[in-house]
Amino acid sequence: MSKILIFTLAALYYSSLFAQSSSIKITGMKSEKEWKEILTSEEYRILREKGTEAPNSGTYNLHFENGQYLCNGCKTELFESNSKFKSSCGWPSFDDAISGKVIERKDNTFGMIRTEILCANCEGHLGHVFNDGPTNTGIRYCVNSISMDFINKD
Ligand SMILES: [Zn+2]
Repeated sequence: MSKILIFTLAALYYSSLFAQSSSIKITGMKSEKEWKEILTSEEYRILREKGTEAPNSGTYNLHFENGQYLCNGCKTELFESNSKFKSSCGWPSFDDAISGKVIERKDNTFGMIRTEILCANCEGHLGHVFNDGPTNTGIRYCVNSISMDFINKD
């Protein structure tokens, strides 16, 4: 190998290391083994395997107390209770998320084109977001109760 080639490969290697370290922003990541120790099997199925709880079954579906909804995996604040609205879809619904706490990803599973929502901190699966919301924002975050925890602020 020529010296120039070796130098080029070394430069690429070091620049890739730098690119990786500067792009990592997710801090709540754990191994799947660690998640299995922390979460119940149903929480694991939904948060880590992108499952969905049965409609109208969740603790927070018809829950309207004053407080904050947290990620059930890493306890990051996701939604304020004043962004929650009564929806007939069967899952807790919000018209806004706390800035920077929820990330979106294209989801083409089950023959549908949807936008998955995840906790920005641990990438726990929350549900999906739709553009058919009935409030001013026009957004409907449709979230599994099991993906969330709640702190009462009263
Ligand atoms: Zn989380």
